[in-house]
Amino acid sequence: MNAKKINGNGSSNGSTLDLYVKPFEEESFATPMRDDAHEMSADEKINVIEHHFRQIMDTLGMDMTDDSLSNTPRRVAKMYVNEIFSGLNPDNKPAITLFDNKYQYRQMLVERDIPVQSTCEHHFQPIIGKVHIAYISSGEVIGLSKLNRVVEYFARRPQVQERLTIQIAQELKKVLKTPDVAVYMVAKHMCVEARGVKHHGCQTVTSSYHGKFLNEHTKSEFLQAIKD
Ligand SMILES: [Zn+2]
Repeated sequence: MNAKKINGNGSSNGSTLDLYVKPFEEESFATPMRDDAHEMSADEKINVIEHHFRQIMDTLGMDMTDDSLSNTPRRVAKMYVNEIFSGLNPDNKPAITLFDNKYQYRQMLVERDIPVQSTCEHHFQPIIGKVHIAYISSGEVIGLSKLNRVVEYFARRPQVQERLTIQIAQELKKVLKTPDVAVYMVAKHMCVEARGVKHHGCQTVTSSYHGKFLNEHTKSEFLQAIKD
């Protein structure tokens, strides 16, 4: 899976430790994908998934000639490629424009209660929740809705909540050109509610703190801002 990408940045001439540790750190929060993941077009993917999803339904014994079922495989395939897994396609990555921080706002900016819907990669069941984001400007500011777009992009993949949280934080550090980023996510996992233990109402909380947010005082200001 990921292991074959270990030489991806090849240029390390450091110690043996560098050779092994650096690529792992760089890749550890990346979604595990094959190198040829984008060779097939979206339309081709839809056709292949439609075929296989029809097989799944057929295997379950459903009458695929029934009016209500016959278009389901294509509907599901389109939904996978164009909607709930569209964040696997780097072409869908949101373009981010930054503005000068003219008013010299140097405090924390918090965007709270960003709705998020993702998909658990272990069960292909929905993950539904909220993300709260904070950053401290390094001189430029981002259009607020772009924060939502970044969340959306990484959520629209098969995910685990821990990785989603980290991916959002890492991307924001990059686009905002600041290490001072915090991401906090609270979500329900349908794989916990609808199957297995079938426990309703339990929520999973994950966070990713960077830069000044590792400081207890800054972190608690953020946590105060997102408190209900
Ligand atoms: Zn799951």
